[in-house]
Amino acid sequence: LVEIHDVHKSFGAVDVLKGVSMTVDKGDVTVILGPSGSGKSTLLRGINHLERFDRGYTKVDGELIGYRRHRGRLHELRPREILRQRANIGFVFQGFNLFQNLTILDNVTEALVSVHGVSRSRAEERAREVLAVVGLADKEFAHPRQLSGGQQQRVAIARALAVDPALILFDEPTSALDPELVGDVLQVMKDLARAGTTMIVVTHEIGFAREVATNVVFMDDGEVVESGPPDQVLSNPREPRTADFLSKVL
Ligand code: ATP
Ligand code: MG
Repeated sequence: LVEIHDVHKSFGAVDVLKGVSMTVDKGDVTVILGPSGSGKSTLLRGINHLERFDRGYTKVDGELIGYRRHRGRLHELRPREILRQRANIGFVFQGFNLFQNLTILDNVTEALVSVHGVSRSRAEERAREVLAVVGLADKEFAHPRQLSGGQQQRVAIARALAVDPALILFDEPTSALDPELVGDVLQVMKDLARAGTTMIVVTHEIGFAREVATNVVFMDDGEVVESGPPDQVLSNPREPRTADFLSKVL
C-alpha cells in the first residue's frame, strides 16, 4: 500500500534523510523509533508531500505522491492535485491542531464538507460515528479548550478517520500529553489497528509497538538502521545502535 523508495532530504548542509526505503502493506502498523533529529518527522511529512524529497519517491495505493512521471522524469503536481492526494492520508500530530473556534462536531466535519464535498447532514452522521469510535460521542457540542489534551487528540484521530483514509500517519501523538492521558489515546490507536487501519506511527511508546506493530523500524542519523517484527527489533536487536537506543527509552 505504501512504498517509500530511497528518499533523500537535506536542509542546507545537513543530510536529514540519506536514502530511506520501506514498504507498508494494507492493514500493517509500522512503528518508527529513533533519537531526536534522526529524520522521523521529515520522513512522515514527506509521505504526504508536506516536505519535498530531494531524491526518491513515495507511492500510496500505487499512486506516486506529489509528482507525475513524464518521459522518465518527475514533474510536481499542481497544488489542488496534491491536496486531493493528501485527502486520502490522515495525519495526526503531536499538537492536535484543532480549530479552537469550532465545535468538536464541526472540527470533524470540516474536511468532509470542504475537501470531500460531502453534504453537511451526511458529514455530521459520519462525524458522530467516528466520535463514538474514539469514545467522545457526548462531546460534539463542546469546544476544544473544554477538553483535556487526551480528548483533543482523540478528536484529531476522529477527524483523520472520518474521511476513511487509505493510511493514517501519527507523529508522536502522545508525547505532548500528561502521563495519565496517554493510555486512552493509545487504546484508541490499538482499536484502529485491530480494525485493520493502515498506520505509520512515530512514537517512543515501546509497549504500544510491542503490542500492535507488525513492523518496527529503527532510524538513526537519516537512515534505517534496522527493521523487522517487534519481537526481533525490540527484544533481540541486531544492531548496537538499536540496543543502545532501547536501553535509554525502556
Ligand atoms: P524528534 O524526535 O526530535 O521529533 P525527528 O527524528 O522527527 O526528531 P526531524 O524533525 O525529521 O527529526 O529533523 C531531522 C533534522 O532535520 C534535525 O536536525 C532538524 O533540525 C532538521 N530539520 C527539520 N526540518 C527542518 C527545516 N525546515 N529546516 C532546517 N532543518 C530542519
Ligand atoms: Mg519529530
